Amino acid sequence: MKHKAGFVNIIGNPNVGKSTLMNSLVGANLSIITSKAQTTRHRILGLVNGDDFQIVYSDTPGLLKPNYKLQESMMRYISSALKDADVFLVIVEIGQKSIDSEVIEHIKQTGIPVLLLINKIDLTDQEATVKAIEHWEKQFKGAEIIPISALHKFNLQSVIDRLLELLPESPAYYPKDELTDKSMRFFISEIIREKVLLNFKKEVPYSAEVVVEEFKEEEKIIKIKATIFVARESQRKIMIGHNGAAIKRLGTAARKDIQEFVDNHVFLDLTIKVDKDWRNDDKALKKYGYEQE
Ligand code: GDP
Ligand code: MG
Repeated sequence: MKHKAGFVNIIGNPNVGKSTLMNSLVGANLSIITSKAQTTRHRILGLVNGDDFQIVYSDTPGLLKPNYKLQESMMRYISSALKDADVFLVIVEIGQKSIDSEVIEHIKQTGIPVLLLINKIDLTDQEATVKAIEHWEKQFKGAEIIPISALHKFNLQSVIDRLLELLPESPAYYPKDELTDKSMRFFISEIIREKVLLNFKKEVPYSAEVVVEEFKEEEKIIKIKATIFVARESQRKIMIGHNGAAIKRLGTAARKDIQEFVDNHVFLDLTIKVDKDWRNDDKALKKYGYEQE
């Protein structure tokens, strides 16, 4: 039996459904999903294993122009995603008319096969879907187009079948019982960050970063110590809230999800600290795990 394996990189604008797609394909909640843009800052790998194949999906941050250092770092993740792909899944949503032409050119130049997925077709009718297919055939010549609903897992089997045809013969890249390459701490910090995004408006979430300082497994409980770094004292105050009500609400929601994720009781100790200008500070970015050149 010939074994196939390879990297499938999911690329698209913010909010088109990249993380939802990867979760549906992998069948576990590996990527965080929220309705706010820019939530996926790091690359996250999701593995799907079969007897004779291994698909390594990678979810990348949304495509945007870098306008401060954090976004530059995010764009580097995208560049690295462009380099190591065997197949691209370029994802657009119904109603969307274009993707950054530089990105299209970049992808075409690699010569790597592209499946262009038109997502969220559950939100529209067949006529509009057919029109969208015709539109994208002209916009992205050479890409194979597949309409899907990542959320409702509609037509994903067509995507998987096509991927298995396109992947090269290769041994597996990762042990077959692993779901992902990221550590427990990473997922816990992502869960907490998701709650920050859901609980606060405007500039607060985008200036926040979460670091899990301690992860101690005891007999009947897991003790987790995490710090949320924000850019300004005013943001720290907002996050704590009146009599600590806001941080308490956030902590409760985060603890609930973490307990589900680790399948154990969790004690969560959350601290909020001010770390000015971390987004523009190379050293701080390194500390929080962003790749630097
Ligand atoms: P990302 O920024 O590209 O990773 O997008 P997400 O996966 O975080 O999804 C953004 C939003 O679109 C979320 O609210 C999802 O629930 C929603 N979404 C994703 N796929 C679908 C879909 O097939 N249909 C509908 N109706 N909503 C979707
Ligand atoms: Mg995402």
